[in-house]
Amino acid sequence: MNILVANLGSTSFKFRLIRFDGAGGASVLAKGGYERVTDYGRAIDDCLGELQAAGHVTTTADLHGVGFKTVLGKNLTGCLRADTDDRVIAALDGFKEIAPAHNPPYALGIARFREKLPGVPLVALFETAFYQWVPEAATRYAVPQSWYDAGVRRYGFHGASHKFVAERSAELLGRADIAERVRQLYRAGATPVPAGAAPLRIISCHLGGSSSVTGIRDGVAIGTSMGLSPQSGLPQNNRVGDLDSAAVPFVMKTLGLSLAEAERQMTKESGLLGLSGVGNDLRDVRAAAQQGNARAQLALDVFVQSARHWIGAFLLELNGLDALVFTAGIGENNPDLRAAICARLDQLGLVIDPAKNAALRGTEGEISAANSRAKIFVIPANEELVVARETARCIAAQS
Ligand code: AMP
Repeated sequence: MNILVANLGSTSFKFRLIRFDGAGGASVLAKGGYERVTDYGRAIDDCLGELQAAGHVTTTADLHGVGFKTVLGKNLTGCLRADTDDRVIAALDGFKEIAPAHNPPYALGIARFREKLPGVPLVALFETAFYQWVPEAATRYAVPQSWYDAGVRRYGFHGASHKFVAERSAELLGRADIAERVRQLYRAGATPVPAGAAPLRIISCHLGGSSSVTGIRDGVAIGTSMGLSPQSGLPQNNRVGDLDSAAVPFVMKTLGLSLAEAERQMTKESGLLGLSGVGNDLRDVRAAAQQGNARAQLALDVFVQSARHWIGAFLLELNGLDALVFTAGIGENNPDLRAAICARLDQLGLVIDPAKNAALRGTEGEISAANSRAKIFVIPANEELVVARETARCIAAQS
């Protein structure tokens, strides 16, 4: 079975073709993408042309489905057919104001795929899907009921990434039962069974261009650092992260900013970029900090502080921890940052091994010391595999 995973940005189209063999194995047959895309229809043609030239997909009959890592939809989440279910595009449109960088490209891109590839199943896996079972108290803001009714609540994002961590960390800890539960999580009608006698407690730190920390009990998310939008939680590359709501009217009144300009600055000139004044890529911020740039060092410190804040919240909620996991570009490749995040946690049972930590970049492994009660792992992100698997499952369930 060949599944194309389509990653649609506001001006980019990236793809990965994943083949599943009958025995549950998966291999990446091809990956590629285009920047400065103005016409998704053309990009789809180019992608199919590339796959055809490489001999992977001769006709559309060789393409068994296309999966999309959609962000959030109004009154809709989970894993759904986007070719036959019109609610998907409507739900993306309904929340385009909350995720302006993500929802419009997906709505437009899915519509073009429907036109270009009639008969090929399309599947949307919402990033919010992993948070369907978060206790309600952890999803609510203290806003008037009318705001809540309009959709103002905590949703959570990076669901595919944290789901992969939930499954893989369970495997690494020898809990095949929990790994299987995670694999079955989005099965129609599945309700996660309550915590067993030996709960498995994981905190997953997806640290990258966009970052979030999620608490996971027995494979099911109990809460996460991102709320209404991907603007929240930790400082992001150039997006603000958590901010007191009073800040927006304050800068509008005192700095004379329009709402549109305040929004632009919060989404384009904040985060690591705003704090450091150097750039939005952690490598640049780190290099500047190493050369003595105090603002760059402060940006790193704020990032670490925020990651620890959320780890602390879930450590308490989970009543302990079996594993802390680092994933995504920053989490996988920055031993100094991992060490700073794990510093002084020995009384809570977390001790990093400096040598193992320093040696591990971009690959899977354990970096906790022998005397650490909880394990500390690095697990490279594999969101595309999760999207492809769920796409295959969704198609199989409906055929
Ligand atoms: P992601 O969004 O997961 O692609 O992560 C992007 C972030 O990861 C950027 O801030 C990069 O600086 C950081 N990153 C990616 N690769 C490396 C690397 N080899 N060394 C240090 N940081 C990296």
